[in-house]
Amino acid sequence: MGSIMEASLFTRKIEAEIIKEVERLKSEGHNPSLSVIVVGNSPSTMVYFKNMSHKGVELGFYVELRKIDESVGAAEVLDLIHRLNDSKDVDGILVGLPLPKEYDVDSILHGISPDKDVDAFHPFNMGQLMIGKPRFVPATARSIISLLENYGVRIQGKNAVVVGRSNIVGKPVASLLLQRDATVTVCHSKTVDLAKYTREADILVVSMGRPRAITAEYVKDGAVVIDVGINDVNGKIVGDVDFEGVRSKASLITPVPGGVGVLTTLMLFDNVLKAARLNTDKH
Ligand code: NAP
Repeated sequence: MGSIMEASLFTRKIEAEIIKEVERLKSEGHNPSLSVIVVGNSPSTMVYFKNMSHKGVELGFYVELRKIDESVGAAEVLDLIHRLNDSKDVDGILVGLPLPKEYDVDSILHGISPDKDVDAFHPFNMGQLMIGKPRFVPATARSIISLLENYGVRIQGKNAVVVGRSNIVGKPVASLLLQRDATVTVCHSKTVDLAKYTREADILVVSMGRPRAITAEYVKDGAVVIDVGINDVNGKIVGDVDFEGVRSKASLITPVPGGVGVLTTLMLFDNVLKAARLNTDKH
């Protein structure tokens, strides 16, 4: 029976490091700040970003959450982003997803200055990550690596299989694992015989958005299994991994909730700190 990887064991330590750096920057006269733009009226999206903003404030950041009505056009939102790009008081900029269908998502996300792109969606930051010189890295991918490192999982030389190739999770985490000398396979919906690959994994990262899709027969004995999925099944949050079944084979496994998601917000605010340092170096 595998051990559960409890992200909450490390949150205090990571929070303390972030708070210390926030205080250091403040003592130098810079108040680290994040601007969050949420377009539309989805209550669940708003709740998510409100909770995230509260966490930031708790850590000592200045967080400005702007709620923009859906009737406001993409050009106006882009104008706002450009103003925030030019403001020396704003370190990080984050645009809530999903955006309204009529918006060109890429033109909005790519309008954020690469130096303030704390979600790491800008092609410049994606490119830096791909060439092994990461600047901003998507928070979820960082959270996965942080869990592996905090649990002392050796990555070098291991077979790592990532199921899912999203820009926000699959691709960046594959890149980070590769940089840590794992042999990495990325699977997706067109992969033929998924289990053939996942059963070879010493480290299996699953980010599919398919509730409990990865069952015990997909997993090798002793594997480390990281479940990124967050799925609402009849009001209950479950992962992409069948936790109970897979736990009987894995050596380590993340729970959902209580795993990857717990560290994601902290990693985001750690990215804001990086943006704050870039900003202070410039001004
Ligand atoms: P996504 O954009 O929803 O894409 C899903 C990926 O899984 C795609 O690459 C897709 O392949 C692949 N996939 C779907 N069905 C598959 C199948 N049957 N076999 C193999 N691959 C399959 O992915 P995401 O944004 O990474 O999100 C995935 C999950 O993680 C969601 O539940 C989301 O809520 C959760 N999430 C959690 C966090 C966190 O902090 N914990 C952060 C972000 C996302 P194709 O590319 O071929 O379509």
